[in-house]
Amino acid sequence: MKVLLKNAKIYGGDTADILVEDGKIIGIGSYDSADEIHDMSGYAAVLPGVIDAHMHIVTGDIEYNDRALRSWAQAGVTTVRDLGMGNDKNDHPTQEFLAYRETIENPECAHCLTCGRFVAQYHGLNHVMSDGAETGYGCQTPEDAVNAVNELIDMGCEGIKTSIGRGMGGGQTPIETEKLKAIADTAKARGVWVTCHILDAEFVPALLEAGMPEFAHMPTDHVPDEMLKAMADAGVTCTPTLMSINAPRPPLPKGAKMPPMPGGPGGPGGPPPMMMKDPQEQEDICVDNTRRFIEFGGMVAVGTDTMRMESQPHVAAMPVRELQLLHKAGLTVPQVIDAATINAAKLCKIDGQVGTIEVGKQANIIAVKDPIDETFQALSHVEFVMNRGAVIKE
Ligand SMILES: [Zn+2]
Repeated sequence: MKVLLKNAKIYGGDTADILVEDGKIIGIGSYDSADEIHDMSGYAAVLPGVIDAHMHIVTGDIEYNDRALRSWAQAGVTTVRDLGMGNDKNDHPTQEFLAYRETIENPECAHCLTCGRFVAQYHGLNHVMSDGAETGYGCQTPEDAVNAVNELIDMGCEGIKTSIGRGMGGGQTPIETEKLKAIADTAKARGVWVTCHILDAEFVPALLEAGMPEFAHMPTDHVPDEMLKAMADAGVTCTPTLMSINAPRPPLPKGAKMPPMPGGPGGPGGPPPMMMKDPQEQEDICVDNTRRFIEFGGMVAVGTDTMRMESQPHVAAMPVRELQLLHKAGLTVPQVIDAATINAAKLCKIDGQVGTIEVGKQANIIAVKDPIDETFQALSHVEFVMNRGAVIKE
C-alpha cells in the first residue's frame, strides 16, 4: 500500500510530496496518486521522528514500559535507546525485556534499542544497587568484561553501556582503564555502539585512554578546555542529558546518609560531585562544558535519562527542555533538531535507517502546526505522527 504525504514543508528543505510504501520512504518529489493521501499543507514543519538516545527501561514492569513506549510514539519520539536496565531483582532482565520487545514491534510503540544490563566494575557503580539488586555484570577482570559484552550482543542487544565513577556511597573503586578498554575494543570489534556513564571530569582522561567513543552524560563539574578539546579531537560523541541534572531527585529520609553499596569496600572518598552541589549551579556548569565541547567541534545528541523513580515521575514525552538547554549551550535551532534526529541516529548506529527524511529510510515522520523557534514549544504538541509507515496520530 502506498501512502502519500502531499505538500510537506520538510524542515530545512523544500516543500515536496513524500511517498511511502512498506514502511519506507520511496520517493520525494511530486506525486498525485496513492492508496492513502494526507494533505500536509496545514503543518508548519515536517521532520523526522525524534530519537531519545538515553533513557532507561524499567525491568520487571512490562506494563510501565508498554505505556512509556506508546506515550513516546504519540509525542513524536519514534526511537528510544535504553542505556541500562533499572533497579530490579530479576535474574534475567535482559532476556525478559528482549522477549517482550518482540511483542511490541508495532508502529503504536516507539522502537526501543537496548544495551541490556550494565557492564560494570565488580562492586562498582551500577553493579549492585543500594537495595541489593544486581543490575550489572560485575567484572573482576578484563576477560570478564569481554565475556559480558559478547554475551549481551549474542543475546540481541544493540550496544553496550558501562560506567565510571563512584557509587552513591563514595569510596568504591572506579573501573580500571584496562577493563574499559576491553569493553570498548570488544564492542567496536562487534560493530556495536558503546557508551560510558560519566559525571566527574577527573575520569575524562581514563575514558579517552580506553578509546571510549561516546560519553553518556557530560561531567557536572568544570571540565578544562584541554580535556574538552581532546574529546572533540578524538571524535568522542556525547549525550549531555542536561535536563536530568536539575530534575527532581528522590529525597533522602531525614538524617539519612547516602547508603553505601553492599559489598563495596567503603573507605575514603566522598559522594560524587553531583550529590554535593546546588542543582541549578550544576546545570549551569554542565551547559558550559557542553557549550565549550561544541565550540571545539564535538558532536552532541539528545538524551533525557528518563527513568521511573517513585519521586521522579518522568513522563515519556518530547524532551522540549533538553532541546532548550542544547540551544542555550550554543546550538542553533536547526542544529538542535539535528541533535534530536540525525546525530542521535549516528550515536545509535542507525543513521542508515532513520534520522532524516530521505528515500530509502524508514518513514518515521512527524509534523507540527506552529513554526519551530528557539522555545521549541511547537514540538510539545506534535499533531501528526507516522511511525514506520503507519499514521498513528493526525
Ligand atoms: Zn542514564
